[in-house]
Amino acid sequence: MRLVPELVLVGTDWRERHAVAITDGRVAAVLPAGAPLPGDVPLPGKALLPGTVNAHAHTFQSLLRGLGDDLDFLGWRDRVLYPFSERLDRAGIALGAAFAFAEMLLHGATTCVDFFYLHDSGNENAEAVIEAAGRVGIRLVLARAMYDWEGAPRRYRETPAEAAKRTGELIARHRHDATVSVQPAPHSPHGASPAMIRAGWEVAEGAGTPFHIHVAEGRYEGERTLNEHGATPVRYLDRLGVLGPRTIGVHCVWLDDEEVALMGTRGAALAYCPSSNMFLGDGITRVPEMLRAGVRVCLGTDGGCTNNRLSVFEEMRMCALLQRVRLLDGTALDAATAFELGTASGARILGLEAGAIAPGRLADLVAVDLGHASLHPRSGLLASVVFAMSPQAVTDVWVHGRRVVEAGRLTTVDQRELLARVGALTAGWRV
Ligand SMILES: [Zn+2]
Repeated sequence: MRLVPELVLVGTDWRERHAVAITDGRVAAVLPAGAPLPGDVPLPGKALLPGTVNAHAHTFQSLLRGLGDDLDFLGWRDRVLYPFSERLDRAGIALGAAFAFAEMLLHGATTCVDFFYLHDSGNENAEAVIEAAGRVGIRLVLARAMYDWEGAPRRYRETPAEAAKRTGELIARHRHDATVSVQPAPHSPHGASPAMIRAGWEVAEGAGTPFHIHVAEGRYEGERTLNEHGATPVRYLDRLGVLGPRTIGVHCVWLDDEEVALMGTRGAALAYCPSSNMFLGDGITRVPEMLRAGVRVCLGTDGGCTNNRLSVFEEMRMCALLQRVRLLDGTALDAATAFELGTASGARILGLEAGAIAPGRLADLVAVDLGHASLHPRSGLLASVVFAMSPQAVTDVWVHGRRVVEAGRLTTVDQRELLARVGALTAGWRV
């Protein structure tokens, strides 16, 4: 199959009249289109981009959207997250995941990391999320959370031995899936004990996967980790021996200069969620400083009830704008960097051969409508994709070579029916 758009983004260059050949879920070649061939998919008036990589989300939280939007973090956690997540059975969890995956695909995200923690002492719920991803058609990294803080709902919690065993089993079970991978994710320094964090690290080391953990999202966490463990969060993780190239620290808002440098020295990565940090009033992660220190950075939406949009294009924009206003500097973070963080950098950090249109890369692609007003005039098109593009300009999406959105509609599930089921499940939910 060849996709033949008007423009193809190769690196940061737009190629005209080129075709993208796809074989077995990967880009086989990007070549001048030449004469039409049988099986060509013509995409006149469209530009083809790499799909975006959502490096941090909690899919079931989409069902909680709108419930606690004006609460602070603890109010949100205790009045919305904990009580309403208790209402979800396995079918509800799968519905929330399908709902979030559908919205992400429509917004051009072709990979989603679901940091998932509603385990009910097993892997069946995680399998329901994995099944939903396959059905809706998104590439999934299931960051299997490991949680043992006794203040959290019972269904989140496991012992380190149970969590390590189950996470290892889930990784092994999906090791050969084309569109699913599983990676360990001890929840955070406050949600996981030192033994749990170490257990997650050992699973990641054994399986050769990245390792996800929330770090220093709120200001209170630094003081708390210092009181409980004698070091601030990043120093604490380093002392535990879990700060290295496989570490993906989520948020990392409240780091001091030495912690920023330490993350860079250890080769750790940041999953940055600018809209969520703004929504919850967390603060501003110092992204340009972290990049300069050598920290690799990817972008995430976080959950659908702490953002409340599910678009990595939106996070690219927010990432750049937030750094500009923090530093009072319009050059603080440019469009090409923001685009890279939301595509190729995210894929590399997650260990996926995606995020760019090049031979051998996964065929995770997005077509945007060059006729949409938000992409006019055509000067500076990549910057317009980051700063100006309306979500309505995303018309078609392919994941692993499968067309999952066509002309702005999901091809895999009935959107009306999906939204009706979401409405039925959440009817009467009020805080
Ligand atoms: Zn999170």
